[in-house]
Amino acid sequence: MSALKAALIGKNISQSLSPRVHEEIFSIIAPRVSSGFTSIDYALNDCDERCNFADALKKARTNGVKGLNVTIPYKADAYTLSEEHFGMAAAIESANTISFSDTSVAFSTDGEGLLNSLLREYPEFNLEKYHLVSIGAGDTARAVLYSLCTRWMPKTLTIVNRTIEHAEDLANFCVAQAPGPTVQVMALDEFITKYAEPRYRMIVQATPVGNSSNPGNLLEGFAWSELDFALDLTYRPLETALLAAAKDAGAKTMNGLGMLIEQAALAQHYWLTGVLPERSPLSEEEYQRIKLRLTNELS
Ligand code: NAP
Repeated sequence: MSALKAALIGKNISQSLSPRVHEEIFSIIAPRVSSGFTSIDYALNDCDERCNFADALKKARTNGVKGLNVTIPYKADAYTLSEEHFGMAAAIESANTISFSDTSVAFSTDGEGLLNSLLREYPEFNLEKYHLVSIGAGDTARAVLYSLCTRWMPKTLTIVNRTIEHAEDLANFCVAQAPGPTVQVMALDEFITKYAEPRYRMIVQATPVGNSSNPGNLLEGFAWSELDFALDLTYRPLETALLAAAKDAGAKTMNGLGMLIEQAALAQHYWLTGVLPERSPLSEEEYQRIKLRLTNELS
């Protein structure tokens, strides 16, 4: 009997759904890939102000942890402190996953996880008819924009953020990924008042505002229309105030639960096999089964 040792490391993670998600995924993937592991032992490693992230990484490795998921505020550190960088992590210089073997390998599954879930929920989706907007300019916004803009060329890209310098940094990164869309940066107030004309807009909410421990709606008063597609990376609650307002106006909406499942499935597949698959390792039926169980738990 051998358990796959894995953990989530981040700040304020006591409510995380990751252990549940990884248990569900393990029961599906591990037997299929003949991993030799008979169970998963997934821990929550809360690393607050008193915690040194580099030390926490070393400790996890010494304790036999095979796979780590990394969340706020350590994704950039996870990249820097790892010995090898795999796939898009090297481009975005940030990682949400580490695998320990002879070396520590950092990679990022947030962007591809989002893409996989988006195409499951909306198989005909094509970003090329949309003006893409990111509310937020953090590590996850970077990963998501990289994956979306590598797959499609949106009509334009607008980065809206509380701290304009961070939005400008992300805009410079996106421009450097040429060929790409025209990129502009806006403050939240300016966006709400000046970006009101109805058109095909895909608006990705990539900040913690709106989740159950940080309620609110950064786009309060925004003129949504039925042409919009609102994507909120939050999944607790399943419908944030922002998504509710978009839905009331007839917009397409999607929360972050599918992304949570898909990014975890990619990470765990790598821990078990050493291979990051090009597509989701979950069938449609498996994905829907996990999603339904988690939705019932969150409702
Ligand atoms: P991050 O790197 O810390 O970035 C946070 C972003 O939110 C920054 O742009 C920050 O603006 C902004 N922000 C934070 N508090 C704010 C406030 N009170 N008002 C306005 N803006 C605020 O975090 P991240 O890794 O990008 O994660 C962002 C969100 O995505 C989180 O809620 C996370 O839970 C979610 N997420 C979901 C999944 C999933 O699987 N569904 C996966 C990853 C992340 P400043 O630049 O001004 O600080």
